Amino acid sequence: MSATLPSSKYEIVDHAYDVVVVGAGGAGLRATLGAAQAGLKTACVTKVFPTRSHTVAAQGGISASLGNMGEDDWRWHMYDTVKGSDWLGDQDSIEYLCKHAPAAVYELEHWGVPFSRTEEGKIYQRAFGGMTKNFGEGPVQRTCAAADRTGHAILHTLYGQAVRRQAQFFIEYFALDLIMEDGECRGVMTWNLEDGTIHRFRAKMVILATGGYGRAYFSCTSAHTCTGDGNAMVLRAGLPLQDMEFVQFHPTGIYGAGCLITEGARGEGGYLTNGEGERFMERYAPSAKDLASRDVVSRAMTMEIRDGRGVGEHKDHIHLNLNHIPAETLAERLPGISETARIFSGVDVTKEPIPVLPTVHYNMGGIPTNYWGEVVTKEGEDSNKVVPGLMAIGEAGCVSVHGANRLGSNSLIDLVVFGRAAGLRCAEILDPNEPIPEFRNGAGDKALDRLDRFRHASGSTPTAELRLNMQKVMQNNAAVFRTGETLAEGREKIRGVERGLPDVSVTDRTMIWNTDLVETLEFDNLISQAIVTMDSAANRTESRGAHAREDFPDRNDDEWMKHTIAWYEDGDTDIDYRPVHTWTMSNEISYIEPKKRVY
Ligand SMILES: Cc1cc2nc3c(=O)[nH]c(=O)nc-3n(C[C@H](O)[C@H](O)[C@H](O)COP(=O)(O)OP(=O)(O)OC[C@H]3O[C@@H](n4cnc5c(N)ncnc54)[C@H](O)[C@@H]3O)c2cc1C
Repeated sequence: MSATLPSSKYEIVDHAYDVVVVGAGGAGLRATLGAAQAGLKTACVTKVFPTRSHTVAAQGGISASLGNMGEDDWRWHMYDTVKGSDWLGDQDSIEYLCKHAPAAVYELEHWGVPFSRTEEGKIYQRAFGGMTKNFGEGPVQRTCAAADRTGHAILHTLYGQAVRRQAQFFIEYFALDLIMEDGECRGVMTWNLEDGTIHRFRAKMVILATGGYGRAYFSCTSAHTCTGDGNAMVLRAGLPLQDMEFVQFHPTGIYGAGCLITEGARGEGGYLTNGEGERFMERYAPSAKDLASRDVVSRAMTMEIRDGRGVGEHKDHIHLNLNHIPAETLAERLPGISETARIFSGVDVTKEPIPVLPTVHYNMGGIPTNYWGEVVTKEGEDSNKVVPGLMAIGEAGCVSVHGANRLGSNSLIDLVVFGRAAGLRCAEILDPNEPIPEFRNGAGDKALDRLDRFRHASGSTPTAELRLNMQKVMQNNAAVFRTGETLAEGREKIRGVERGLPDVSVTDRTMIWNTDLVETLEFDNLISQAIVTMDSAANRTESRGAHAREDFPDRNDDEWMKHTIAWYEDGDTDIDYRPVHTWTMSNEISYIEPKKRVY
């Protein structure tokens, strides 16, 4: 560690590591652990304490074809995931995910995750939407659970294991921007929120594990910290984001509060009813019913409400019924959501239904990568060009196992499988004995100029006002259902919000725990992603997965079975495409043909 004075007015503390991971959610911690285990000098930088990352809130579980509750096979899991992705997922990555999932779960078990157990002492698995046996024949119990606190259990275990392997944690350090030289990532610039110092990390590999950007929307299930900072850094580095039009709505956010009621509640036998008390999912998805995939259930709920069959005084929500499930089962399997329902909707789940509404839950889009977690971009005809020195994993990444729609419990497994893959790749391509390359003069100055610009912003609009305007535009114009008209209006309106940024008002000019400045930097990160989301949605004239266009109701494989990639600069989005990987890693399972939608 040394202190130097480069061209900037800030004093900079320099660090050098083989690997710097940004983010300490499930993905970041798994990669940190893997890199440290491989003998690489590893740092993990995180803006919140590791166990406060959004992964802690994951309730339902983690998918893997362990076959503890009946026969299962990774190929069936792969089939479901390709189908769930509405044929936009990359099939080589999906094969990697499903094949390695059981090993990744056993690894977690051995490290100490306290999974719920079956009578024989095996890991308990529950049913989740879209998970089937024998290539779509009927439901399978594939989702491993630690009651309804699976993410909590995984995160605490991984943090302990990473500390044990001497990874260095930089906690409550806010990453400002990547340091790029000649198209390569060389490090990352960060701000220590606690004492106000600036820290510059030099690294052979930077791994972004910064999570999703749910907070671009008004009603979402994700934490306030989910502002997609890594995605925005990638855009500022002149690299594209992929498939940003695909935003998953979870059918059961608590009406008004947005807090999640896990799909596991329906997995345990819960069902939805409309204002007439009808179990309407039987009409929309006769076989999967309440456990049809999330886009199908969210759209069915929206349709019921639109047709005047909602619940309540304004007929604007739906009921989730759990009161027929024995109270002991609820207490054992769903204790967390029973408490959430009591606190956020005043409901006793053993007696009354919970008022729910589709709420933004997951971003399928993010930073394009291959299945080693290496970031890729498109240059000329090469749409798999690796960006040296940069990886992305978890919800920030788009290795594209979820394609146009993610199946429940497939994210937690994505975090650990690809966090593990990134660690393995680092071990393969980095040599701990090689020196860590020096920076050129002025490395990181651009990041500090941006910090300074916002720190001294003296306009008249509070950040909170700009943020609320953005969230409302996204909620109204890039919603469960979209049309050319709402999206065109959305593109105008969201740019209107962005034009307000030069007039932003930041009142706190200090460097120590300046939440005003942190929120402004986060807003700046969110608005670029909001624009890219809106533009990518307007551009895709078909319906696929979570992207439902009323004016183009059908999936159009001839024209649109391709990934959107979008670059962004100063309000302008530049869109191009990458082919979907319809090939697999091996020949153990051949290419799964798109079929007619059947649920
Ligand atoms: C309520 C809820 C329930 C869910 N339940 C399930 C489930 O049951 N099963 C399932 O498979 N999926 C579930 N999901 C989805 C899944 O939990 C998330 O997709 C996943 O946890 C994301 O993990 P991550 O490691 O990518 O990022 P996160 O856990 O969001 O962590 C992001 C990390 O990045 C750090 N970071 C971000 N920006 C910066 C910055 N600028 N500087 C420094 N650090 C930064 C943060 O400090 C944090 O450590 C759920 C999601 C929600 C919201």
